[in-house]
Amino acid sequence: MGPIGVLALQGDFREHLAILDGLGIPNRKVKLPEELIGISGLIIPGGESTTIEKLSHINGLYAPIRELIHAGMPVFGTCAGLILLANKITDGILGQVGFGGLDVEVKRNAFGSQLDSFEAKIPFFDYEVAAAFIRAPIVLEARDSVEVVSRLVTGEIVGVQSGNILGISFHPELVGESRVHSYFIEMCKKADFYAKL
Ligand code: GLN
Repeated sequence: MGPIGVLALQGDFREHLAILDGLGIPNRKVKLPEELIGISGLIIPGGESTTIEKLSHINGLYAPIRELIHAGMPVFGTCAGLILLANKITDGILGQVGFGGLDVEVKRNAFGSQLDSFEAKIPFFDYEVAAAFIRAPIVLEARDSVEVVSRLVTGEIVGVQSGNILGISFHPELVGESRVHSYFIEMCKKADFYAKL
């Protein structure tokens, strides 16, 4: 398997790299198109989805990432990363479209100012994982092709998977939780993808 790429344009990419290091998984920062070559999966971190999208255009990463997702590259988005992977964004800025790929509608900053940041233990498949939510999105609607993998006790959908794409509203990497990353690494091993431009 090739290294796992972490999109390193803005946001908390360092924490994702640290989790991969801790798991002993080869990894690489991706800031430029040529750094995509040979990766077996890509993590899109949390941060500010509009900024990450803008910088991906400036750095020439927007089109290749879209194509690789379409070609079946495993990709894992957290928070802003989930927003960037959604086919429909509610409360986005004008013209915000992301990379797409997940047939879901997400609502940005869905918890409002009263509760814009909190920590919780939540289910992720059969595990219970530690999670930080920071101005997090929720999934308003997930189509049939999309499996719901995490929900809050109050019912909101905060984790989904559809084929090669995994998206969660929360940040396991900020609370030292590595099981979601381990799951993604298994996805990458199974897919055995090699990114070509
Ligand atoms: N609210 C941010 C956005 O819209 C996401 C926040 C986060 O990634 N922690 O991009």
